[in-house]
Amino acid sequence: MGEFDLIARHFARATPQALLGPGDDCALVRPEPGMELAITTDMLVEGTHFLPGADPRDLGWKTLAVNLSDLAAMGARPRWVLLALSLPAADETWLAAFAEGLHGCAREFGVDLIGGDTTRGPLNLCVTAIGEVPAGRALRRDGAQAGDDIWISGQPGLAALGLAQLQGRLQLPAAWQTLCIKRLQAPRPRVQLGLALRPLAHAAIDISDGLLADLGHVARRSGLQARLALNQLPRLPEGVDRATALDALLAGGDDYELCFTAPSSQRLALGCIAADLDIPLWRIGKMEAAEASAEAAGPVLLLDPDDQVIEWARLGYDHFA
Ligand code: ADP
Ligand code: MG
Repeated sequence: MGEFDLIARHFARATPQALLGPGDDCALVRPEPGMELAITTDMLVEGTHFLPGADPRDLGWKTLAVNLSDLAAMGARPRWVLLALSLPAADETWLAAFAEGLHGCAREFGVDLIGGDTTRGPLNLCVTAIGEVPAGRALRRDGAQAGDDIWISGQPGLAALGLAQLQGRLQLPAAWQTLCIKRLQAPRPRVQLGLALRPLAHAAIDISDGLLADLGHVARRSGLQARLALNQLPRLPEGVDRATALDALLAGGDDYELCFTAPSSQRLALGCIAADLDIPLWRIGKMEAAEASAEAAGPVLLLDPDDQVIEWARLGYDHFA
């Protein structure tokens, strides 16, 4: 099977959202009037982002899902994606499963695969995703305001626990094993939540590197300090060592939950969204004006019930730290 058969068989599909899909030098798309394009790219490298031998179906899903998560975090509606991949070999079984996972995610979130690039090399998967957001309405990291509540969706930390289980660093209770590994291998991007937050939230980010690290980006870019209340954090999984579970929640990456800030006047509306979408939303702290000491304390403070600062050893994942 040659390169072009491979593309035709596994990747080229109908592209109802594009004027021209795979097969030419470029794809052609037309944004809706009044919309801005939100564009992002994320690469998954074997050995860095996934373990060698990872299930190809899950990998196909995740390659797309992590990109759609970035669109969700901007409040953008996903529309078009491109896939650049390098493969050690044209393994039919592997490719069919990978493509099934990828197209399954594309179908679920209504995006078209409009092009890409396919080469031979170490296993490396790179998606570029394009979404639309009404002009001026994207949820940017620099939009948080002093006094905003800080919120987080779902149950962050499970993916890090799943990874620890797979790497043999931890033995999870049977009841949590499947769920945590599923969260790691096939995360669901919070696309509907991102769209629902657009009129309510001031700023948003998806948690890919760890809550403390990612919320730190929002605080810094907004010129504020985030104050997290330990006793308002999401419930930790039962039967898992508390310190380990808390570290996974605060500094574990790969969950792709949304962390966002919103004025307290939106609490009721956010409660309705949580109920409508059946996604837990936790109000975990407040954005405050950065104190003079903020430089030393860092952009995120974790506070115990007596307002004492808790030092946390690790903020999150950094490829070059
Ligand atoms: P070019 O040489 O002009 O860059 P290519 O030979 O790389 O074109 O690709 C041929 C066509 O197939 C292009 O339209 C490209 O977008 C598409 N394509 C290549 N790889 C993929 C892929 N993995 N998924 C979807 N479309 C792809
Ligand atoms: Mg090319």
